[in-house]
Formats: sequence, C-alpha cells, structure tokens
Amino acid sequence: TTALEARDVVFSFKTTPALRQASIAVEAGEILAIMGPSGSGKSTLLHCLAGILVPDSGEVWFDGTRVDTLTEEKRSALRREKFGFVFQFGQLVPELTVVENVALPLLLGGVRRAEALRRAGGWFPRLGLEGMEQRRSGELSGGQAQRVALARGLVAGPRVLFADEPTGALDSLTGEQVMDLLVSSAREQGTSVVLVTHEPRVAAYADREVMVRDGKVIAADRIAS
Ligand code: ADP
Ligand code: ADP
Repeated sequence: TTALEARDVVFSFKTTPALRQASIAVEAGEILAIMGPSGSGKSTLLHCLAGILVPDSGEVWFDGTRVDTLTEEKRSALRREKFGFVFQFGQLVPELTVVENVALPLLLGGVRRAEALRRAGGWFPRLGLEGMEQRRSGELSGGQAQRVALARGLVAGPRVLFADEPTGALDSLTGEQVMDLLVSSAREQGTSVVLVTHEPRVAAYADREVMVRDGKVIAADRIAS
C-alpha cells in the first residue's frame, strides 16, 4: 500500500522553479532513495512530501489524508506525530545532553520526562554510545552526533523518516555506520524512509531509487538511457 504520495507537484521559490509536476509514491515500509544533481529539486520535493512546504499546485497525500490543503497547525501536528527527520548538519541542541536530544520528540509529544528519558536511553547501546547519555553534543564526533540525530528522528516510532543527505558531512566508513543503523532501525519499526542523497553508495541501501532532474522525478530504470 502507498503511504505517501506527491502528484504533479509544482513549487517555485519566487521566480526560481524548483519542482515542475513532480510525482512520486512511497510504499509503507519502503526505503526510497531520491537521487539527482545539486539544485535538481530533491530537498524541495522532500519538504513538500513532509508538509514543510506547500506546493503551488498538485497534491500531497499521506495515509489517505490530503496534506497540502491542511492548515499550518494541522501540518505541524502531522509532522510531530507521524514523521521523523534527520538532516545533514547541526541538528542537535547544544544546551541539552545527548539523551535529552533523543528524547525531544517524545517530550514534544507529551510523554512524561522520566518515561521519555528512559525510552531515549534505550537507544544508546545500539548507537554504540552507552555511558555517553549525559554528554553535550559538542563532545561527540560527527558520526556519533549523526547517530544521535538519527535516534531522535526514530524515537517516537514515526511512519515516515525524512533523511536529507544524512551522511553528507561524514567520511564513508562513518556514513556506512549511520546507514546500517538507519536501515536496521527503520525496518524494525516498519518506518518508511525518504532518503535524499547524491551518493550512489548511500542510495544502494534503499529498496528503490528514483532520480530527480530539473524538478521532475524520473524512474530509476531510465537514468542510464
Ligand atoms: P537539491 O536538493 O536537488 O540540491 P533544491 O530542492 O535544494 O535542490 O533546490 C531546487 C532549486 O530551488 C535550486 O535552483 C535552488 O537553488 C532553489 N532553491 C532551493 N531553496 C531555495 C530557497 N530557500 N530560496 C530560493 N531558491 C531556492
Ligand atoms: P540541499 O542541496 O541539501 O538543498 P543547499 O546547499 O542547496 O542544500 O541548500 C541549503 C539551504 O539553502 C536550504 O535551506 C535551501 O533551501 C537554501 N537554498 C538553496 N538554494 C538557495 C537559493 N538559491 N537562495 C536561497 N536559499 C537557497
């Protein structure tokens, strides 16, 4: 079954067209990689799918709900309740401990503090960060910080994880550790993943790859031709 879909989505930043009738469907539990050159519209497509940007025309659907016509408040609630996010850089809150960072989506979702910290702490062994719960994000390496950011994206059990260049700031070995964790955790939870990357080695972790070119989605089997 389709979990998330964009139909003929058009989006411009002022006079810069970013998406020109982009269409894509993400299956429940599927890990989908969106590839394509810089500036082709990958991030904009992710933001439209996630209800962060509202298309100029076209439709976005999640689980039988039309997303693009929802109010900002309802889109915000949808993001908080059903979606998780992990980006390339700078996403941890430096004033908080790392376990508080992981717990944030739970706290925002109304889970009580002790329970949220307990659930967040449960991630640390598999992150390879046991005993580091009380550190600040500035004390972590890039790969450690990204694993913490990934745990935060997944801790509330989202239906869809949006990952925009999650390994873009990491060397290839560290990036592989992040992708191993992303894939195994998403599979365990049945979370769909929308993964934006320009690295073929990262896209290889996905079940399926699509290509974005000039604001349109091209099926992967047509990339080579
Ligand atoms: P990609 O993720 O494939 O690199 P983007 O979706 O970020 O592509 O960008 C698509 C196009 O929209 C590019 O031409 C880019 O310069 C432009 N763009 C992206 N974000 C903005 C913005 N905030 N303001 C103006 N133009 C933008
Ligand atoms: P990505 O390819 O992952 O979108 P970029 O470096 O293109 O990364 O963009 C980083 C940030 O700058 C994003 O928030 C994007 O929306 C914004 N941005 C990209 N292009 C432009 C632009 N032409 N004008 C203003 N903001 C832009």
